Amino acid sequence: MKIAVLSRNPNLYSTRRLVEAGRERGHEVHVIDTLRAYMNIASHKPSIHYKGAELEPFDAVIPRIGASITFYGTAVLRQFEMMGVFPLNESVAISRSRDKLRSLQLLSRKGVGLPVTGFAHSPDDIPDLISMVGGAPLVIKLLEGTQGIGVVMCETEKAAESVLEAFMGLKANIMVQEYIREAGGADIRCLVVGDKVIAAMKRQARPGEFRSNLHHGGSASLIKITPEERMTAVRAAKVMGLNVAGVDILRSNHGPVVMEVNSSPGLQGIESTTGKDVAGLIISYIEKNARPNQTRTKGKG
Ligand code: ADP
Repeated sequence: MKIAVLSRNPNLYSTRRLVEAGRERGHEVHVIDTLRAYMNIASHKPSIHYKGAELEPFDAVIPRIGASITFYGTAVLRQFEMMGVFPLNESVAISRSRDKLRSLQLLSRKGVGLPVTGFAHSPDDIPDLISMVGGAPLVIKLLEGTQGIGVVMCETEKAAESVLEAFMGLKANIMVQEYIREAGGADIRCLVVGDKVIAAMKRQARPGEFRSNLHHGGSASLIKITPEERMTAVRAAKVMGLNVAGVDILRSNHGPVVMEVNSSPGLQGIESTTGKDVAGLIISYIEKNARPNQTRTKGKG
């Protein structure tokens, strides 16, 4: 098969591994720099140009679109879809998963377990917002944050009020969430491919920290997940319409709750922690499922 990896940097671990795994299995794999692809969207025959020439047809495309280029990246992916190329994850599903509010609303509507969560922009009654989500302790998140930046834990309602006031002053979108203390500073990353969790790891925050992000000194280890956690992760990916997803789960005393569904999960941490050939399993998913003109939305979404 001829496979394109849409990625800004061929040297990133995940990109390298996908290219390597594809070539090992006898496929022709090319890395296409997302921002350098250009297209004539008004043409009757959709095509993509790259480095001065029209791209030859591909059988499948693996999108690795960074959060900062979601808008242009999903447009390039949509063009591949209009050309009938099989996308590992569809453009609409990626856009959906990048919108945290939309994602949580969708997951909630489909009955996937979530922490009690409120959204706000400029609430005129902060105490009411706080009591709506069950009072302190609370986690307050800036929607635009990544890697745990802009995630604050407030032990008391007074602290929560001050933080909310400060964030409101920044005119930011805010998420207010029940603090899952019983998770003990750990979360579980489940790597879903198709309808299976093919690898899972636990990320544990360092002592004195509640955020388990590796950037904040968290450490990763192997974990055996329960059938309920497995089902929750697979359902979450399915609700989002993602074939491949990194689903982050917290163990709460009301069952597994989903924090986030990531459409371009990093492969380095999960492969080194579990010793699994995640890239190889992704390629084999493509081998089994890639058919031309099978995009459900055909680039319409
Ligand atoms: P980011 O997407 O920026 O990484 P997250 O929402 O994943 O932000 O939060 C960062 C970390 O904080 C999570 O990995 C988790 O360990 C911890 N955390 C986030 N929300 C909660 C919560 N409601 N209860 C307990 N811990 C949480």
